[in-house]
This record gives sequence, C-alpha cells and structure tokens, in this order.
Amino acid sequence: MKPTDISVPDYFHKVVDCQWACPAHTPVPEYIRLIAAGRYSDAYMVNWHSNVFPGILGRTCDRPCEPACRRVRVENEPVAICRLKRVAADYKDDIRARLPKPAPR
Ligand code: SF4
Repeated sequence: MKPTDISVPDYFHKVVDCQWACPAHTPVPEYIRLIAAGRYSDAYMVNWHSNVFPGILGRTCDRPCEPACRRVRVENEPVAICRLKRVAADYKDDIRARLPKPAPR
C-alpha cells in the first residue's frame, strides 16, 4: 500500500470537510474553538489570514462550507460557520496592532 503523501497540504485540508469546501480554505474548526473559548480577536485573526474581510464575509459569503459540515450526518442543521465568522468580527477587540504595518511611502 502506497504511504500517504502528507507533504501536500491538501491532504490535511481534505480531512476537514468544511475547510476544504471553503474557497479560502479557512481553518474553520480552529476559529470555532477560539470563539467557544471567548477569544474573538484570535478567531478574527485566524479568519483574517485566509480572507482579509471576515466581517463582510460573515454577512455575505455563499458559505459552501456549511453543506460540507459533518454535523449534518447526525443533525439536520450544519454548524452556522458563516454566522460565527460574523460573531468573531463583531465581538473582537481592537486588533489594529496585530495587522501588518502599511508599506512606507
Ligand atoms: S463562510 Fe465562506 S469564507 Fe467562511 S469558512 Fe465558510 S465558505 Fe469559507
């Protein structure tokens, strides 16, 4: 049997259905864990790294991640992944110090 090639990041992405379904491959379980811990700014920054407009996407994304959510295997509804992105954006603290500095002119 051919050993699994784990050098390709897609291998890990595919294992996490919601993350794989997201066009930006946002690490969904990670930011949901951070929200559950009340760490909204950290959750926001996890989103920010894969798509720089979490607050906007939390309101407008077509959320292909949700139909891929494994929760639907045991419940009727997927996790509200998109809405949780909005929660992180709405409840985050001032994260400006964590953003890259603008390029010098
Ligand atoms: S809501 Fe959109 S951007 Fe966010 S994880 Fe789902 S597909 Fe990706």
